[in-house]
This record gives sequence, structure tokens and C-alpha cells, in this order.
Amino acid sequence: MSIKIKKENNKDRNDIKKDFLDDEEANFSIIISSLLLISFLLLSIILLNSAINQRDENKEIISSNQYQNIMNDYIRNIPLLERESLEELSEEVMESKRPCLDSKSDLKEMADEKLSLMNKEYYDNYNIQINSSLVAIENTSNPFSYKFKTHISAVKGNYSFENIVSSDVDCINLKDPVPILYCKSYNGISYNESAYKYGNSLSDFLRDKGIENCSYYINGSSPLIVRKCPYDPYKHHGDDGGLVMKNCRDNGYYHESRDGACYLCRLEGKSGCEHYGFETFINPQKTNETGRVSACGSDHVIFSDDIYPGVEVIYNSEDGLNEILYLDPHGHKVKYGMSDF
Ligand SMILES: [Zn+2]
Ligand SMILES: [Zn+2]
Repeated sequence: MSIKIKKENNKDRNDIKKDFLDDEEANFSIIISSLLLISFLLLSIILLNSAINQRDENKEIISSNQYQNIMNDYIRNIPLLERESLEELSEEVMESKRPCLDSKSDLKEMADEKLSLMNKEYYDNYNIQINSSLVAIENTSNPFSYKFKTHISAVKGNYSFENIVSSDVDCINLKDPVPILYCKSYNGISYNESAYKYGNSLSDFLRDKGIENCSYYINGSSPLIVRKCPYDPYKHHGDDGGLVMKNCRDNGYYHESRDGACYLCRLEGKSGCEHYGFETFINPQKTNETGRVSACGSDHVIFSDDIYPGVEVIYNSEDGLNEILYLDPHGHKVKYGMSDF
């Protein structure tokens, strides 16, 4: 009996050992499985992360390109907005008949106001914070064009932009306020869409300046709209028996001139300035008389404190009436190739 028990005890021990070995195998499998699972999870996380990073990078490139496009669009709008400001200032002077005290500072005020409206628009539409202002207006070697310099700074998220942008702003097709500013207190001056008609105003203005033969300018006319003369070099104005000069006067062109005022100075009521500017001519009434002398018809001479005389230059004759200019023989007659007229 005791042996049997012992034997049975032995058997139990063997069973326990076997169970124990079975458990060990199972544990080992669990550990391996767990390790595999963890590795798989880690790998997945790494792969997922890099995919997310890749996507974020693409997103950043897209938003950076978009940002650049938006800023390019903004910069393209600046010269248009500044040109609009110049036109509005010129209309203000024409309507009020009052010259600017400082046309550049008036222009800066108007342009800055428009810029700040545009900045608000860009903030509302694209959530970009832009600050900008007109910092300088410079004359150039082309008297019909100015260089406007605008400081811009912009921020959106991690991106920022700061620059001074130069724009060419011209005064072509704007109204010339000089005649109305000088003749406004004399009766008879008016203008249509292209020209001033002086009536008696210019003659009376010249009489007050003590100019002889001022009455030759009764019912004279001159251009309203600034247009650059295409007949360059100017000495060709005498070509074709004066036909070029006739075309020039019929179209009311303006010419580059060191003595004539630039556009911004015209808005200040100046006929001449220190900048490289331009001039046009005042056409006296057509006449059948000849050999006359009166004030030189360049606008910077007529509307100046130093009016000098010009001799009659007949550039066209029709039905016994001469179309004339009064030009100084050694200055404007030579410049425009009219010495033989
Ligand atoms: Zn011309
Ligand atoms: Zn000027």
C-alpha cells in the first residue's frame, strides 16, 4: 500500500512537472507574440508619423506658395491704387480750383488710406496681416512718370514678408490744372473734355502783368489733358511745312522741358519747378494779320513772373486765316525746328 501511494505520488510529481513545462512553453509564446505585437505597433506608429509629417510638409509648401501668390497679387495692385490717388488729387484740385500746399504729402495721405482699406480686405479674405505705407515719391528722368516707393510688411503664421516696392506712376491722361489755377479769377475761362478756352481771361491776366499786345490771346486755347508728344526729336515739328506742328497742336501734346513744371508741382500751382518737367503751348486766336509779337506762348513763360516776348510763327494757313504760335526766336523756335517759319 505504501509503495502504491509512493508510486502515485511519483506520478503526480511527473504530471506537475509536465504541466509546468507546458506553462513555460505557453509563456514563451505569449512573450514572443507580445514582442511581435509591440514591434508591429511601433513600426505602425513610425510609419503613420512619417506619413503625417509628409502631409504637413506638403501642406506647408502649399500654403507658402499660396501666400506668395497672394502677396504678388497685392503688390500688383499697388501702382493701380497709387495712380488712382494721383487722379483723385488732380480732380480735387480741378474742382476746388485750389492748389495743393504739398502735393506729395497730400498724395501720401490719400494712398495710405487706400492701402489701409486694401490691407483690411486682405486680412478679411486671407487672414494675412499687412501693414503698408507710401514712403517716397521721386521724380525720374521721364517727366511724365514718378517712382512711388511703398513699404510693405506682412505676417501669416510662420511666414513674414518685408520689402520696399517701387512702382511707376504716370500722369498721362490727367488734367493739367495750371491754366485754371492762374486764370480762375478772370472771366471767360472754361474747358471741355480736351481743351481750355480762355475767352477774355488770359488777355486780362496778361494785361494785369503789363504785357503788350495781350489782346492777341483773346479766345486763345490750350490743352487740358496731359499727353506726351510723339514727334520726338522735337526739331521735327517744322517738317512738312509745319504740318507736324499742326498735328501736335491739334492733339494738344506736351513736351519734355527743363523749364516747365512737373505734374506734382502743377498741382501746387507752379508753372516751373526745379524738377525735369514738361511744357505745352497756348494757341492764340487765328488771325489774318501778320508780323505780330506778343508773350511767348510756352505755358511756363505765360504763367510765370518773367514773361518774355515771342515772334509770330505761322504753322498753317487756311481760308486766309493763320494758325500761329508766339515763340522766342533763339529758344523755343530752335527747339521745335521752327527757325524758318
Ligand atoms: Zn509736339
Ligand atoms: Zn516739380
